[in-house]
Amino acid sequence: MFNPERSKKLKLLPPYLFLEIDKAKREARSKGKDIIDLGIGDPDQPTPKYIIEALYQAALDPVNHRYALDQGIPALRRAIAGWYKRRFSVSLNPDTEILPLVGSKEGIAHLPSAFLDNGDYSLVPDPCYPPYKGGTILAGGKFYPLPLHESNSFLPDVKEIPANICRKAKLLFLNYPNNPTASVAPLEFYRGIVKFAKKNKIIVVSDLAYSEIAYDGYRSASFLEIEGAKDLAIEFHSLSKTYNMTGWRIGFACGNSQLISALTKVKSNIDSGIFSAIQLAGIAALEGPDEHIRNMCILYQKRRDLLTSGLRSLGWQVNSPKATFYVWIKIPTKLDSIKFSNLLLKKADIVVTPGVGFGRFGEGFIRIALTVPEPRIKEAIERLKKIV
Ligand SMILES: *Cc1c(COP(=O)(O)O)cnc(C)c1O
Repeated sequence: MFNPERSKKLKLLPPYLFLEIDKAKREARSKGKDIIDLGIGDPDQPTPKYIIEALYQAALDPVNHRYALDQGIPALRRAIAGWYKRRFSVSLNPDTEILPLVGSKEGIAHLPSAFLDNGDYSLVPDPCYPPYKGGTILAGGKFYPLPLHESNSFLPDVKEIPANICRKAKLLFLNYPNNPTASVAPLEFYRGIVKFAKKNKIIVVSDLAYSEIAYDGYRSASFLEIEGAKDLAIEFHSLSKTYNMTGWRIGFACGNSQLISALTKVKSNIDSGIFSAIQLAGIAALEGPDEHIRNMCILYQKRRDLLTSGLRSLGWQVNSPKATFYVWIKIPTKLDSIKFSNLLLKKADIVVTPGVGFGRFGEGFIRIALTVPEPRIKEAIERLKKIV
């Protein structure tokens, strides 16, 4: 027998709060219930054909069957640099300022290991994408939550951070367009963050996973567009949401070369690069026609409008997001987010994500993902009408 005692770090990881909902969802499905799953942040549309074709061709070539380089194929890094230049007018050196990743989640979760020692802090938005906290804890660090309040457009207020925490903080995570609140960040906010980070010698980690999913003409900025940002920031981007490639596992980090090189060192001890054929397919994606992105945004925008107008017709108070495929909704009753989500599952066979699963300041909200076809959204509204 072995000693089953888990490490202190593992025990400190926050519990997986969606466990209960997942279990209830599986049970309902096994009973033959027709569940409408509005909980999943995973595109329902297929990867565009031209990307699959590139994968197929690359997979046939034995050259691509071997270990890939830790720092990624040079042509992929050049394609990423080209994409950033075209999209954000940000110049990146493909050899020192770009690192392809096995999906951006692993890079985000590994970064704290490069910079945190025991007692060092990460500043993390609350609510947030869970790996900011998980990566911090696994690195032996602590996290300090920055509440995202609706009254401040779901932006953190760095003036509220106590001086002793600022001194111990090495990383600040930002994620706009935001999961789960679907809020966006104005350039003014980013400028204030550069000033704050410079003054307090804090690394800014910008998670830009949703930059290409935007509506009503809104265009997301890169944090690296801000003057001085590249002196102190690393930005994570992903092909997952932009090209419907969540299962492929390809993303990248870019920005300050010292940050990139530290992350490269951590990763060289853990993975051995991304399957080369997937990297070549990634080049095809980044250099492909913009038409796919336009159509994708139109599709989500129609779903967004259908959902928000439907919920408003029920008397719910709902904002239409400018970006991401989420709608962050204030719960229209006094129930907490877990109870309300369980109620929707039990009474309407609808799965939503309870806000508290993203952090304690997510309480009072639910997140709905626009990753189901329009008829299912209509059906969900009909079911809700019956239970109001
Ligand atoms: C989906 C998502 C990612 C992307 O994850 P991948 O590992 O690249 O698939 C990153 N950040 C946030 C906030 C996300 O929601």
